[in-house]
Amino acid sequence: MSAPAVFVLSLDTEIAWGTFDQPEFASYAPAFDQYRALIDRLLALLDRYQVPATWAFVGHLLLDRCQRAGGTTHPEVLRPNFAWYPGDWHDHDPGTDLARDPWWYGTDILAKVRAATVDHEVGTHTFSHVVLGDPACDAATARSQLAACRELHQAHGLPFDSLVFPRNQVAHLEVCAELGLIAWRGREQAWYEGLRGRWHRLGHLADRLLATTPAVYPRAQLQPDARGLVNVPGSMFLLPYDGVRARIPTGRRVRQGLRGLRAAVASEGLFHLWFHPFNLGSSPRMFDALEAILVAVAAEQAAGRLVVRTMAQVAREARGE
Ligand SMILES: [Zn+2]
Ligand SMILES: [Zn+2]
Repeated sequence: MSAPAVFVLSLDTEIAWGTFDQPEFASYAPAFDQYRALIDRLLALLDRYQVPATWAFVGHLLLDRCQRAGGTTHPEVLRPNFAWYPGDWHDHDPGTDLARDPWWYGTDILAKVRAATVDHEVGTHTFSHVVLGDPACDAATARSQLAACRELHQAHGLPFDSLVFPRNQVAHLEVCAELGLIAWRGREQAWYEGLRGRWHRLGHLADRLLATTPAVYPRAQLQPDARGLVNVPGSMFLLPYDGVRARIPTGRRVRQGLRGLRAAVASEGLFHLWFHPFNLGSSPRMFDALEAILVAVAAEQAAGRLVVRTMAQVAREARGE
């Protein structure tokens, strides 16, 4: 029996949590302000094409309020003292509520995701978007971050199966397994990954301009490790229209996505697309690019050549469950 190809869509759901330490933070404000409208449009699109996604929520977004006490928030949740970040990682946490500071809380977004027609997965992206792979993050901190998320998932009646690592920096897999996670998203295998700094950025841009076929993965490669964890690696980041990236035509994004899909169908492998919902605010063309790819996904699915799965579903199949 021939196994069809698999399409996975994962969404790094973080609003302001993923970029508050970045120089571009202020430029994302318009996207954060229209975040709820972007989510509504995205959910409608995923319903239209019957595509369930894995929404990797920053755990803090599963709160509708919190408090600042003794100059900090969530003292019980450990966070690293990053060499490159001055002060406490939670300094940006307003310690207020959803109505007042919707960039930092997201129970309303969770409700929207759960109200969708298709059955989305809610995964995790750590409690406060700490970079688990940074040398300053020890196992106890990783455990504390993920345990806080697991507790919030339990409180909301959500499964706790899949992790997307902040900045895609993979580490502490033993802690992930210990806390019951079964799936994580590995960094995509791209030809320019070996390059550093400016050359990496140039390589990435050239790759997008040429619409190089993204990495797809044979299903046989999707195997649990000794701890039972399954790497469901990324294939392609749907490129937003920020800065110099805006010069890359929409057609290149679409072509690259379609090439990935075609390669997955030809090899009966996995094509895994990902982005952050706030990226949709970089240009209305983001929705055009996404929809063109989803049209092709739906057509391949209707033809019986491809199935759409969440990260947890891929992991369960790999684990023989
Ligand atoms: Zn808080
Ligand atoms: Zn992130």
